[in-house]
Amino acid sequence: MAAFSAGRHRLKRLCTFGVQIPRRHFTAECDYDLVVIGGGSGGLACSKEAAQLGQKVAVLDYVEPSVRGTRWGLGGTCVNVGCIPKKLMHHAAVLGLAMEDSGRFGWRLPGPVSHDWATLAQAVQNYVKSLNWGHRVQLQDRRVKYLNVKGRLGDAHTIAGLDSRGREMTLTAKNIVIATGGRPKYPTHVPGAREFGITSDDLFWLKESPGKTLVVGASYVGLECAGVLTGLGLDTTLMVRSVALRGFDQQMARLVTGHMEAHGTRFHWGCVPTSVEKLPSGLLRVKWVEVERVEQEEREDVFDSVLWAVGRAPDTAGLNLPEVGVQLDPDTGKIVVATDERTTVSNVYAIGDVAEGRPELTPTAVQAGKLLARRLAGQSSQLMDYENVPTTVFTPLEYGCVGLSEESAERRYGRDNIEVYHAFYKPLEFTIAERDASCCYIKVVCERASAQRVLGLHFTGPSAGEVLQGFALSLRCGLTYAQLQDAVGIHPTCAEELTKIHITKRSGLDATVTGC
Ligand code: FAD
Ligand code: NDP
Repeated sequence: MAAFSAGRHRLKRLCTFGVQIPRRHFTAECDYDLVVIGGGSGGLACSKEAAQLGQKVAVLDYVEPSVRGTRWGLGGTCVNVGCIPKKLMHHAAVLGLAMEDSGRFGWRLPGPVSHDWATLAQAVQNYVKSLNWGHRVQLQDRRVKYLNVKGRLGDAHTIAGLDSRGREMTLTAKNIVIATGGRPKYPTHVPGAREFGITSDDLFWLKESPGKTLVVGASYVGLECAGVLTGLGLDTTLMVRSVALRGFDQQMARLVTGHMEAHGTRFHWGCVPTSVEKLPSGLLRVKWVEVERVEQEEREDVFDSVLWAVGRAPDTAGLNLPEVGVQLDPDTGKIVVATDERTTVSNVYAIGDVAEGRPELTPTAVQAGKLLARRLAGQSSQLMDYENVPTTVFTPLEYGCVGLSEESAERRYGRDNIEVYHAFYKPLEFTIAERDASCCYIKVVCERASAQRVLGLHFTGPSAGEVLQGFALSLRCGLTYAQLQDAVGIHPTCAEELTKIHITKRSGLDATVTGC
């Protein structure tokens, strides 16, 4: 392997070992205390924290363009093609709804309003680019060596890198953290899927509106993207193979999809696409079948865009992991890790989306990265706690939750051993606006035994993430139903409804909140 020796990237090789050095008997001096492969949520957090604790750190981040050719900068999925552009576009859609309400609050708009995709996309992309720059500056300030290089393992202490000009380099490190995240999948047996489809890697970087769009897949990404597109006034269809939001509380999932259906997203339930074909007009003809139907009668429609939201695959190809002894899960392809994020090679760690069994969420990748850095620097022995991680689905009706779904609580404790408190409430801002509040709902799942420890909190309504963040903390501190009832609310808010909840499902009483 040729050592990379160009200009400012010149690397002094201090390590003398190579593949022949036995793993787990590391003694030689290395270029770095820590090399992180992947500069996304987890990798950046880990490298910055380690450097702040006095470690000599390098982070490698390299973005392979999407199938369609979309490229972006430093910061990983969340910053460039995930949380950030998604939430900004979600906000744009929410603003559209607010404009619909505004007349009833006395605003006089000059005429019919319309949305301009190009303006939104440009603003979002400019902001994302400012974040790319911000991350570079932070790395520099903290003396983390940033290399825009694609990394792979040479052995347990050696990382081989390749930059965009095809130049090779070698780094050695005492510890290595793999934080390479994942990329969207395409369906394998649908002709035209890769050729004509886009994914979330492309959507937020489109310069022109995607137009009439078919979104395939009904988990976080599918629902959120379909919600944004509908909210921006685009003709949007969502194709659901089985259920929406698999693994989430299904009563809550039905409220979310019910609200989307009522607000203009077309749903094809129990269907899968069979082909995508480009017509001479440039439109895409999609054919699909119903999963359950014995006679597979094909149906079809034409769209401007087809967005695949059928899950994500870990980005491990080319990292040379099995060759150096890092074990991958045979089903998911993710890296097998212990509770301390250690892989099957003792000085190689994996965090974030690429690690098996971890939630695919930015805050968990960030926290895991920081805690790992502290342990590697010998400053702490604290492990990441992956229990009771809160999350929010940013659909037009937002859904936030923490802890167990009603179904999981039933499975774990038995139906007779849980108590479910619930309430249908009306956000104050929905009243004058005459908005339908039938999907605004709260569910608190508790143990039935005397202390009534809270096992799960579920909330649909405006700003669900903001509402749940504090409650999620209290749940981690062992919140009981009695404590929730003792809490003093903040009036008038949606969050206070959680402190007033008192109707059990078991009672069969009407759970609609009336009055203050
Ligand atoms: P990533 O952020 O994916 O970073 C990995 C980096 O490593 C990338 O830059 C990649 O290019 C680079 N890389 C890969 N291979 C190599 C290599 N060989 N050498 C060098 N670099 C390499 N989470 C939330 O908490 N809230 C949300 O609202 C939310 N919204 C989302 C919306 C969408 C559309 C998507 C797709 C995801 C969303 N997520 C959200 C999930 C969140 O983005 C991920 O969980 C998070 O980014 C994972 O961080 P990571 O560090 O594991 O990997
Ligand atoms: P998921 O794996 O969660 O869901 C994939 C969806 O695609 C499911 O609905 C699945 O249906 C469907 N599907 C899979 N294969 C096919 C196929 N061949 N044809 C039709 N449908 C198919 O992936 P996502 O990409 O939605 O989310 C990935 C992760 O990203 C999430 O787990 C989440 O952690 C993170 N994320 C977080 C967000 C947030 O915090 N707000 C937002 C977005 C992403 P079925 O159920 O039938 O298998």
